[in-house]
Amino acid sequence: MTLVKDRVRNFVNGQWEDASTQQTLPIYNPATAEVIGQTPVTPQAEVNRIVQHAVDAWWDWRSTPVVDRVQPLFKLKFLLEENIQDLARTITLECGKTHAEAVGEMRRGIENVETACGMPTMIQGYNNEDIARGIDEHLFRQPLGVVTAITPFNFPGMIPLWFLPYAVATGNCFILKPSEKVPLTSQKIFELIEKAGFPAGVLQLLNGSKETVDALLDHEDVRAVSFVGSTPVAKYIYSRASANGKRAQCQGGAKNPVIIMPDADPDMTTRILADSAFGCAGQRCLAASIAVTVGEAYHTFKPLITDAADSRKLGFGSDQGVDMGPVISKESQDRIKGLLDRGLSAGAECLTRDPYSTVEGHENGYFIRPTVIENVTPGSELAETEIFGPVLSVMRASTLEDAIDLVNRSRYGNQACLFTSSGATARAFRHRARAGNIGINVGIAAPMAFFPFSGWKDSFFGDLHAQGKHAVEFYTETKVVVERWPKEWSRVF
Ligand code: NAD
Repeated sequence: MTLVKDRVRNFVNGQWEDASTQQTLPIYNPATAEVIGQTPVTPQAEVNRIVQHAVDAWWDWRSTPVVDRVQPLFKLKFLLEENIQDLARTITLECGKTHAEAVGEMRRGIENVETACGMPTMIQGYNNEDIARGIDEHLFRQPLGVVTAITPFNFPGMIPLWFLPYAVATGNCFILKPSEKVPLTSQKIFELIEKAGFPAGVLQLLNGSKETVDALLDHEDVRAVSFVGSTPVAKYIYSRASANGKRAQCQGGAKNPVIIMPDADPDMTTRILADSAFGCAGQRCLAASIAVTVGEAYHTFKPLITDAADSRKLGFGSDQGVDMGPVISKESQDRIKGLLDRGLSAGAECLTRDPYSTVEGHENGYFIRPTVIENVTPGSELAETEIFGPVLSVMRASTLEDAIDLVNRSRYGNQACLFTSSGATARAFRHRARAGNIGINVGIAAPMAFFPFSGWKDSFFGDLHAQGKHAVEFYTETKVVVERWPKEWSRVF
């Protein structure tokens, strides 16, 4: 049992602890606005103590053979599978997405645990015998030490697992600071980590918000920081961590365009695009946000996507038949309303039903209905800002060239997608679109765990991305050894 007086707890050096602070933040069920717990804001002194436990655990862990380091990860994979339904219910409760979406999220998280179990081969270095007579040269990958990840609210199960398995399999000690809005899923994951058999101090859970993050960013023993969240915070964390001499990889926000060509299959495109724009209530960093119709595609596509939006059933994500849940908070709901109101008064037009009409049985929930708008002026606030809600803007372009120009002008580069039945069009697009994740007839181009999650421009600050081989490089430093053993010292020759 990890909840004491509704407060989530930290997992410190193998034990559950109540943070020594009275400062807490409420956790909500966004479908009902009910307070379901409290997140303590762990103060700096306690952060320092937690980092020290990681420092103490590190030497023994980094000296543990990699084949042994991955054994608790194999166990964790099975524990996550065994508890996937319970984890998904927790995600729905605190984050609002549907049960099916939450199960899907956990599957993508588990995929990273599986990939990191291959660390014995992934971490291999390379060498050359006889770079000069009797001299050999080797490259080893060695772990950094203590590393941390600071994660957002929208994937409470998956995003911590973009980092955690790789960090520990490469021999680091890892501290997770989950979003203060959704800490319950991390509690559950750490209850499983407790059973998986990691030594104390190797994996720790630290709850809190800005103050807690700043203490990690300024701690000299924290060697690397992984971050996922909004662009302003990503920029801030990247600069503060780098100024303090740490490695940093910071994934930011997005505004993802989808180009629809006249030769795209109308039904498939609509189905996939509706899921991309309205799935998880539009709160995915890979959610389609702008549909750029080329030529005649506008006339086919507009009525189809409008109907698809209006037919979605809203409600609490664990209830049968619900297609879409709420957005995360009242603050988020108000922000989206503000953006829409200002855009509509500046000339944009709403094609779907009233975005603000209440959801029966969930009158207090933070819902925004799936919304399709058009006549959004390029360069306007609505066209440029990440909405992070279920709102899709339909724009028009005369040619593929114009559509690609529109994609490439964006300050973000998380994802760009194209729907077409022409291989040549697809090739031209993937060659020229300036975004790091590209979808061709795919609406959420989320890379598998063994590929990097490749945001560009203001969607990513750093060099090496999360997941796969990039994660191995991020969490290790290379050591090159040049070795001479003169013949006269050898008994063999
Ligand atoms: P957020 O930036 O508000 O918070 C993310 C994390 O940063 C949280 O753990 C929070 O406690 C911490 N934080 C917030 N403000 C801070 C500050 N001033 N100083 C230090 N730490 C701070 O993001 P969010 O609202 O939780 O998540 C939504 C955002 O995340 C969206 O912009 C979305 O696009 C982005 N996101 C990006 C990706 C990606 O892969 N690029 C994936 C998921 C989400």
